[in-house]
Formats: sequence, C-alpha cells, structure tokens
Amino acid sequence: MHHYDVIVVGLGTAGSATVMTLAQRGVSVLGIDAFHPPHTLGSHHGESRSVRRAYLEGTAYLPMAIRAWDLWRKLEKDSGEKLLVTTHNLTIGPPDGPAVSGFLASALAGGISHDMLTAAEIHRRWPPLAPPSHFAAGLEKEAGIVFPETCIRIFLAMADAAGARLQVDERVTGWTATSGGIEVRTSQGRYTAGRVLIAAGARTGRLLGVAGAMLTPKRIPVHWITPPDATAYQLGQFPVNFWQVPIDDTAGTCVSYHEFYSLPAINHRGRVKAAFHNQLADGDPETPSPAVSTEEEAVMRAMLTRFLPPLSDRPMTSDTCMYTLTPDDHFLLGPLPQNENVFAVALAGHGFKFAPVLGEILADLLEGRIPAIDMGFFSPQRFAGRE
Ligand SMILES: Cc1cc2nc3c(=O)[nH]c(=O)nc-3n(C[C@H](O)[C@H](O)[C@H](O)COP(=O)(O)OP(=O)(O)OC[C@H]3O[C@@H](n4cnc5c(N)ncnc54)[C@H](O)[C@@H]3O)c2cc1C
Repeated sequence: MHHYDVIVVGLGTAGSATVMTLAQRGVSVLGIDAFHPPHTLGSHHGESRSVRRAYLEGTAYLPMAIRAWDLWRKLEKDSGEKLLVTTHNLTIGPPDGPAVSGFLASALAGGISHDMLTAAEIHRRWPPLAPPSHFAAGLEKEAGIVFPETCIRIFLAMADAAGARLQVDERVTGWTATSGGIEVRTSQGRYTAGRVLIAAGARTGRLLGVAGAMLTPKRIPVHWITPPDATAYQLGQFPVNFWQVPIDDTAGTCVSYHEFYSLPAINHRGRVKAAFHNQLADGDPETPSPAVSTEEEAVMRAMLTRFLPPLSDRPMTSDTCMYTLTPDDHFLLGPLPQNENVFAVALAGHGFKFAPVLGEILADLLEGRIPAIDMGFFSPQRFAGRE
C-alpha cells in the first residue's frame, strides 16, 4: 500500500487548490475524486462565481478576501489564462439591514475602496435595477467574477505538473485512524497518509460520520435568463447585484429577508444568472436533484418583476447546484476535534472566491504549520458536542 504525506478527498474547489499548493511545496500528495472535476455534480459548476473583498458576512473573512484577490491575479500570470474579470459588485437593501450595514462595516475595517449609492443613483447607472426608494447600495468597483470550471482545471493541471498523484472516478468510502496516521478506503483500493483532508463538498458530512452531522446539503435552483438587450447585461457592464429584501416589515423591525442575486452574462450570447441565497430546501447529493419546478421559477420571476423588471418575462431555463451549510453559515475549516490528523472544509455556499487562499491555508495546516491568517473563527471545534 502506497503511503503519502497527505490525501485530499475531493478535487473540487477547496481540494484542487490544496493539492496544487501541497504539490508545489514538494509534499507527497494523493488527490481522489468520485467524478472527474470540473463537473456538474457538486458545488462548482455554472460558469461564474462572484469575487469581492468588502465581505458583509463578517470581518473575519477580510484577510482571506484580500489575499485571495492577489492570488487570483498571480494564478492568471502563472497560467496565462484570464480568470478574474472586474464588473463591480452591488449589495442592495435597506440601509440599516444586515447586508448593507455589513458591507459598510467590512469596507471600512478593510480600507476597501467603496461608494454608498441611493436607490435613484443605482437606477440611473444601471437602468435594469429598480430598487425601491428607501433602499441603498454599497458599491465595490474592484470586484468581479471568476470562471470556476477554468479555475479548477488550472489548479489540477498545475498540481499534476508539480507531481501530485490525481485519481478521478474513484469514490472514497471511508477512513480509519491507524498508528501511523489515516487509512483511506475507496471504490478501488486502500491508501495511507499522515494526514487527510475531507473536501468533498456536499458529501463531506457523510464522510465525517458523527462529526459531519452539523453539515446540511442544500439544493439550489439556478435560473438562466435571456436578457432583452445583451449589451446592458454583459460582464464588465452589468454589476454583480446581491439583494436583501425584507419579507415582512410592517412593524418596522424586520428580522427576515429574501436574499437573491443576479450575475452578468459572460459573453454576447450569454444569459443573466439568478438564484436565491437563503431559505433553501435540503438536498441529497447521492440522488439526482429534482428538476426545478414551475413554482420555483415563479418565485424568482416575482423577485425579477419587483427589482429587475426588464428580465421578468424573458425566457428562462433552470438547473440546480449544491451548498453545504453549517449551523452558523460560516465556513468550517480545520482539524476534527476527534482526530487531529483528519481535516475538513465546508464552505457554506460562499467559498469559491477564496479558493486559492484556502489552498494556501489548508496546505499550511496539513503540513503542521500555523497559517498566516488566523483560522480560529472557522474551527470545527465550535460545534463540538452539537453533533
Ligand atoms: C449556485 C451557486 C452559486 C454560488 N455562487 C458563489 C459565488 O458567487 N461566489 C462564491 O464565492 N461562492 C459561490 N458559491 C459557493 C461555492 O461555489 C462553493 O462554496 C464551493 O464551490 C464549494 O467547494 P467544495 O470544494 O466544498 O465543493 P466542490 O467544488 O463541489 O468539490 C467537492 C468535490 O468532492 C468530490 N467528492 C464528493 N464525494 C466524494 C467521495 N466520496 N470521494 C471522492 N470525492 C468525492 C466531488 O466529486 C467534488 O468534485 C456558489 C454555489 C452555488 C451552488
């Protein structure tokens, strides 16, 4: 049985970046994936992912967001491929709502260049966007999208070139602690390593056993809309726009919101992509995802009618993707409380933008180094006892 320093289970977003980083550092690493990434059976398909640094989800992400931006640019240089295109990012909602106020707090804390816009200013600059007059937006100009399938292809090509062993179409079925580290069982054999990273996306919970019970796979309907005028919605012209809309504000003390977004079309024939980010149904990664229903499309059309009216009655097709949610919607990243040689990562539906920095951080942890960015906030330890 061949022994490795590290085995990475899952070669999607986090796994491919980590395998690349480890291999480039000369670590002996085996990466295994049940499918052949990039693919449409996990969380990384769909042509585009937004990248921003003013991180309304919390200032704990700021150092990662800033470092990731630089690493995306470095990866472009190293690969010779265009990966990150700036197109502006808008966070739209009530000025005192969690999204807009979180955006502002993060932009100020990180010294990130930004503007605050009124509803009228938003509509004047991007006529398809029609926020109600009491909404505002945080605008981050140096923000954009990356192309997830291309990024993963590059991570894996670079991992391969640096000497990683990559095995695809091989499913990991379990792991056991041994005296020398960890034994990993797959559909085709057994391997041992000093340390293991479980980066299996929506299937991570199952592979962690009891410790994974706090991870919930979610099914995300994703809608593709043909715009009336391709130019106005194109990448570089049309901003990523994230909306936080009060569900019931009659008492003036709203506590729940619809959250949805739309992303620009990435070429002149392209379609705008739109999806909800919260109030998601549970999903089962082991069974084919049910087709998106007419009711699900109608809920999205209702949002478009209110906030992006020119798209409301345009042709729409839909597919699905997966999130892996944690109880607090923050990442889970680090060693398991039960076994310091088994590491896990779960990205709570907002992790792609961080892929290269996650690769750097996870490689540090797997090598037994302390990452330059503190990961305490994301430790699996915070859920210990909640399984
Ligand atoms: C619709 C949608 C839109 C999103 N938009 C954004 C965005 O704009 N910006 C952003 O930053 N993030 C976004 N995200 C979130 C981001 O894409 C995910 O957080 C990220 O891709 C998750 O990466 P992962 O490595 O955990 O999972 P994946 O990329 O899915 O990788 C997991 C891999 O593990 C493999 N695997 C699973 N089980 C096994 C097994 N038993 N054995 C071996 N291999 C296995 C799978 O085949 C897969 O390749 C979005 C997600 C969705 C669904």
